[in-house]
Amino acid sequence: MNNAGHNDMSSGIDILVIDDEESLRNVLEELLTDEGHKVTTAADGEHALALFEQGRHPLVLVDIRLPNISGLEVLEKIKASEPDTQVIIITSYASLHSAVCALRAGATDYLIKPFEQFEIVTNVINRSVERIRLIHDNKLLVSRLKKHNVELEKVNHVLQELAVKDGLTGLYNHRYFFEAIGIEHARALRHKRQYSLLFIDVDQFKHYNDTHGHPQGDELLKNLADIFSHRLRQSDTVARYGGEEFVLILPETTKDGALILANNLRQHIAEHAFYGGECQPGGKITVSIGLANFPDDGNEPGILIEKADKALYSAKRSGRNKVTGYSHDL
Ligand code: GH3
Ligand code: MG
Ligand code: MG
Repeated sequence: MNNAGHNDMSSGIDILVIDDEESLRNVLEELLTDEGHKVTTAADGEHALALFEQGRHPLVLVDIRLPNISGLEVLEKIKASEPDTQVIIITSYASLHSAVCALRAGATDYLIKPFEQFEIVTNVINRSVERIRLIHDNKLLVSRLKKHNVELEKVNHVLQELAVKDGLTGLYNHRYFFEAIGIEHARALRHKRQYSLLFIDVDQFKHYNDTHGHPQGDELLKNLADIFSHRLRQSDTVARYGGEEFVLILPETTKDGALILANNLRQHIAEHAFYGGECQPGGKITVSIGLANFPDDGNEPGILIEKADKALYSAKRSGRNKVTGYSHDL
């Protein structure tokens, strides 16, 4: 943190004292060291600026009258490079007016020499030290808040994901599916477009679980989820409806188009070598798919879901590993 440098804010701080009078430098050094601070001294502005570059002292006491570079210039340079540095001007009564200029240029306070009471000097110094501590604490707070904000954003993102995703497969969940179909339906209505809905159910999945165990069943569901997500278009939505049942929303897809897509998917799965597929009653892992289309089969999401489900059970009844589009005679 700037200005804090390597200072431990709970004890003394680093102070740079700049004055061409050796006796005054010594008095201040002794006084401030007694107060627990670490004091560096310089007799002229050039030397002082070089020391400041190295030390970045949070508090600087500078005589307004210096040989070569003036105290005001030293003040301006320090403020330009470290705006939080507290600079106290040392001035005589004779040049009190220049102390006013210094205050305008960013000095924190001033001390009038010769010092009549050391108490006045320590009071002025202590006020500045207090300010430095406040600035330091403030910066610390701001940086902690920023860090916490970043963490909060990450947590929020994870929570949002958790709310819409299925924990096992990483697909969208049942809840999100209902939101998505609502949005797609509204879009299709407004633009007079169509969309299709596919319900996919794993055939004889209970048998698979019973043969290979529930964890292996989970693995199969994950593999199927990966296949669905990889084979679909960006605009399609795939969700886990529940258990071993998945649902797909296919925007801009006619019933015939959806039947072709569904059959390709069904065939791809039937030909895929899944672990333990050969132990299934049909000798392989298969799925059955029921299909409904808007507007052909209904004009509300709820009705389309019902019809796709009905078509799915008809596919099951007709022997599984089948795709069935909804029709009135089912
Ligand atoms: P069908 O061909 O008629 O669909 O038969 P099925 O055995 O697939 O259908 P059924 O509804 O009888 O059984 C589904 C099984 O899916 C029962 C249930 O224990 C299992 N199941 C549901 N959710 C999960 C899951 O998250 N993981 C695993 N491993 N199994 C699940
Ligand atoms: Mg099933
Ligand atoms: Mg089922």
